[in-house]
Amino acid sequence: MRLKFLFFYIFIGFFVSGQELRTNPIDSISILMGKYSINQLLPEVTQAFLEMQSAAKKEGIALHIVSGYRSYEAQRGIWNRKYKRFISEGLSPQESIQKIIEYSTLPGTSRHHWGTDIDLIDTIKNVKGDVLLASHFHGGAFEELRFWLMSNAKKYGFELVYTNEPNRSGFNYEPWHYSYAPISIPLLKAYKSMDVIHKIKNDSMLLGNTFLDKVFLDAYYKTHILGVSPVLNRD
Ligand SMILES: [Zn+2]
Repeated sequence: MRLKFLFFYIFIGFFVSGQELRTNPIDSISILMGKYSINQLLPEVTQAFLEMQSAAKKEGIALHIVSGYRSYEAQRGIWNRKYKRFISEGLSPQESIQKIIEYSTLPGTSRHHWGTDIDLIDTIKNVKGDVLLASHFHGGAFEELRFWLMSNAKKYGFELVYTNEPNRSGFNYEPWHYSYAPISIPLLKAYKSMDVIHKIKNDSMLLGNTFLDKVFLDAYYKTHILGVSPVLNRD
């Protein structure tokens, strides 16, 4: 096992065993913010995905990961592109930020930073353009995939994150986004125990960062970071 993964598992181990992390909180925050370059899904997540993929294949579904690990820089790129576009369309900075966080996270707060979360499609179906649209999963080409995942993903450790339950706050419903619960549950717990969110506004390369005040960040933390399926937010 490579050293960076070993370090990651030691970090998670603290939370699985319920102990507090006292060793190196700076590196721990880097992991949670996508700044510690794991650069790929964690080996355990890849293994679980491959098993799920081969089970799906037997039922005629070609599971494919559209998006897996994403770094802080990559997420900042997404954020800045959208920010520029909304500003150029005439929205105010505050309106632009609100529009971005319907679907996209602030860099440093994406679950894709953790190497545990994946966006899934079925490549047997020939879907052109933007594949990650809820309409494809409801009455469209990925309807069968949605049903299959709803009844089978759990067996492999994967849980839907952004459900369509009316009481869930935060990001819009994403029928494609699954999370490997055995690792992402302790990571969310770690996130909650550290002050990660207020570090983000210090990034001078992040567009709109001067509008990320304490009121906004506290609200975003509650509604968006914690606005996941309750099975993934356990103490
Ligand atoms: Zn996703």
